[in-house]
Amino acid sequence: MSEDFYEALGVSRDASEEEIQQAYRQKATEYHPDVSDDPDAEEKFKRIKKAKEVLTDDEKRQAYDRMGHDQFEQAEKRGGFEDGPGGPGGPGQGPFGGAAGGGSFGGGGIGDIFEEFFGGGGRGGRRAGKDLRTQMEITLQEAYEGTTKEFTAARPARCNECAGRGHPRDVDVNTCRQCNGRGQVRQVQQTPLGRVQQTATCPECDGDGEVPERECAVCDGSGITREEASLTVDVPAGIEDGQTLRMDGEGAPGDRGAPDGDLLIDVSIQSSERYDRDGSDLHVTEAISFPQAVFGDTIRVDHLDGEVELDIPAGTQSGETFRLSRKGMPRLRGRRNGDLYVQARVVTPDDLNAEQKEALQRFAEAGGEEVDVSEGFFEKLNDLF
Ligand SMILES: [Zn+2]
Ligand SMILES: [Zn+2]
Repeated sequence: MSEDFYEALGVSRDASEEEIQQAYRQKATEYHPDVSDDPDAEEKFKRIKKAKEVLTDDEKRQAYDRMGHDQFEQAEKRGGFEDGPGGPGGPGQGPFGGAAGGGSFGGGGIGDIFEEFFGGGGRGGRRAGKDLRTQMEITLQEAYEGTTKEFTAARPARCNECAGRGHPRDVDVNTCRQCNGRGQVRQVQQTPLGRVQQTATCPECDGDGEVPERECAVCDGSGITREEASLTVDVPAGIEDGQTLRMDGEGAPGDRGAPDGDLLIDVSIQSSERYDRDGSDLHVTEAISFPQAVFGDTIRVDHLDGEVELDIPAGTQSGETFRLSRKGMPRLRGRRNGDLYVQARVVTPDDLNAEQKEALQRFAEAGGEEVDVSEGFFEKLNDLF
């Protein structure tokens, strides 16, 4: 299980950050649990995500290269080298250069979707950022082609004023008395199995291990404000209604160096008037004329990538269905598109001129029917098909 992070991403040990990001994006699409049918997809996804997190962080990568895989993982499990229990002196400046400046952005607004985050409130002791969730609607055409969507989202962000510390830089910070700076307290709980000692986040300092003299006025000590983020997401061709895209690290900020959460985007696809979708297959109805049904014809059928020709054989019945191979939706993880099913619907004409009526009357009579064009003609015509 302890596959080297470089191997996990399939990059060389001297890969640039860009190469790593690129390899990650590629693998992420492959193993995304919402997309992959590999039973181990989730595990693999977590793994490459972890690999990317470590290898795109200079400090962590250096440590990783120095320590080797197993030692690194152990060190991390112990709460290791990076942000250990924050005693006085504070944690090292974590890798959060990305505290995006606020400001207004263009793009279609998704709106204020993260209220609940603020409701929940809470500064924390180096907790990883929460995953956030939003919705996005796309057209079937966009699902067919794949698309890049820009959107804005109101989301929590690290407070610019205090860089997420929760207090002004120059303010005295005292070691928390309740936990002596450990950020955690021991609790003894009575359980059916006996007394169990547990550690819990210190309620006094919320796990920070320290209490500032004065809190940041902008964020009220939470270290979090909110921003209108302008984001761009790639929507893969073949995505299905109800699937979820994940934007790595675009969720709520983690506490001081802890990883940021992800942004999950639930994608819905507008229903189309023309197409019924069934997985990667599409169904449409095409009107054909009575003569086309009788004599056969080649018709042009609109589909999502232009037009295709379809041969209607002579003697086609209304309701008969024809399959156009590989003209359906792309599959997320396959090479072949699905199929396009075309149901022919013979249209009964209701605007015949005199000559046409006469011809049809002769047609009916030749078949041994008595038809009076003036009375109930169209109902009878309907019965013919
Ligand atoms: Zn405390
Ligand atoms: Zn602040």
